[in-house]
Amino acid sequence: MSKQTDDFFKNIISHAKEYGFVFPSSEIYDGLSAVYDYGQLGAELKNNLKSYWWKSMVQLHENIVGIDAAIFMHPTTWKASGHVDGFNDPMIDNKDSKKRYRADQLIEDKIYRYEKDGKTDKAKQLQQDLDAALAVDDLARLKSIIEEHAIVCPMSGTKNWTEVRQFNLMFATQMGAMADGAEQVYLRPETAQGIFVNFLNVQKTGRMKIPFGIAQIGKAFRNEVIARQFIMRMREFEQMELQFFVRPGTELQWYEHWKEMRLKWHLALGADKAKYRFHDHVKLAHYANAAVDVEYEFPFGFKEVEGIHSRTDFDLKQHQEFSGKKLQYFDPEINQNYTPYVVETSIGLDRLFLSVLANSLVQEDLSTDEKSDSRVVLKFHPAIAPVKAAVLPLTKKDGLPDKARSIMNTLKLDYNVQYDEKDSIGKRYRRQDAIGTPFCITVDHQTLEDDTVTIRHRDSMQQERVAIGELERIIGDLVSLNKLLKQLM
Ligand code: ATP
Repeated sequence: MSKQTDDFFKNIISHAKEYGFVFPSSEIYDGLSAVYDYGQLGAELKNNLKSYWWKSMVQLHENIVGIDAAIFMHPTTWKASGHVDGFNDPMIDNKDSKKRYRADQLIEDKIYRYEKDGKTDKAKQLQQDLDAALAVDDLARLKSIIEEHAIVCPMSGTKNWTEVRQFNLMFATQMGAMADGAEQVYLRPETAQGIFVNFLNVQKTGRMKIPFGIAQIGKAFRNEVIARQFIMRMREFEQMELQFFVRPGTELQWYEHWKEMRLKWHLALGADKAKYRFHDHVKLAHYANAAVDVEYEFPFGFKEVEGIHSRTDFDLKQHQEFSGKKLQYFDPEINQNYTPYVVETSIGLDRLFLSVLANSLVQEDLSTDEKSDSRVVLKFHPAIAPVKAAVLPLTKKDGLPDKARSIMNTLKLDYNVQYDEKDSIGKRYRRQDAIGTPFCITVDHQTLEDDTVTIRHRDSMQQERVAIGELERIIGDLVSLNKLLKQLM
């Protein structure tokens, strides 16, 4: 990371903390590694992102329904899914710093640095070597790549590495009161399996006809080998997943369909198209016949935000075998029973949150010839902004606070609105800019005479005078999720 991008990333983390978006978990005890809490504004932003995803998936599609499965699942689930035996990451330790890394990520960082330095051929060759080693789980080759490219530990700066080893990422715990009779269960490492085991329940009770989808938002847990980069890689995180069940043979068409839909969904939030790219998997997981990552260009490089996988009939067949229950569908159109194929879209809510923060945080220079000035703004799309409007009486006197409160009382029925009367109006505008509030409504003496207020627009800083009666329409129009959703239809 260059000094500039490093500083920008640090700014994002400190801004997120200072304004109540993200706090280290149990901070009074010095935090817990790679676990974070969402604060008062972070929780709002997260809810808005969830709502955008849920509505775009469930509400806009007649053939997609949503569920909420438990985090704990029967332990055999994870045998069937392959996680007990194969959910591993290649790890390597630096003997000097005692820091642990994921071997593939050290190499990916090197590829990014080659790209940034214009060494495109070297980057391509290294990517090919990495993919080839991962394809056959060749841990010795990963080590030799690290040596050949003189990759050093970012902490110690040395090349004093251990061998590369595999590490299982699942958290295990005991269920039941008696230590002897207790059963080992896992915290789910992905939400997908909760959907697969409920395939027949939902299909039958919802009278779903193929093609149809089951969506879910929920927590997942992975004992990540290394967990740095803030909320990018956490040990407890949240996924938003769709499993879309299709007739065998049509899966690659649906895979292309969902690739296109998901990119559109990301772009509707307002980021520049150049910030996104697809990265096709060369090493396909044993269950997949096509897979791609949707990558966003974070301050530390292009990284996966979402995975789209054509998972074949692997999961349903495995659960059928391990449970002994038939998990098939009778397709009346072709008069046949079959195990459906599945196309999955799986997005990490926390990574999405970070991409939105990185894309929105701007430091603007407002200096004039007379004085130097600047402001920090979070230019969120209004539909996902945590606070939609702030109501600000110009002064604390002359009945202006009462008037402002009465406006607030009407607006708060529909939107998250803040009231603020402390400090100068200029300071209050800047505070709202820093948390990304799209509108500031200022109540002044003229308001008492003619029931009008000024609305200040966050991005342009333009102000306009409007009637109080117009406020709901003006704000509602701009902050509505409908606007985002319409772009997806
Ligand atoms: P990575 O290669 O970065 O470890 P992955 O390919 O294992 O990710 P998936 O299993 O495809 O990830 O999970 C789907 C999504 O869940 C990812 O695109 C990512 O956004 C999110 N995700 C996965 N692991 C984490 C984590 N430890 N912290 C936060 N989000 C995560």
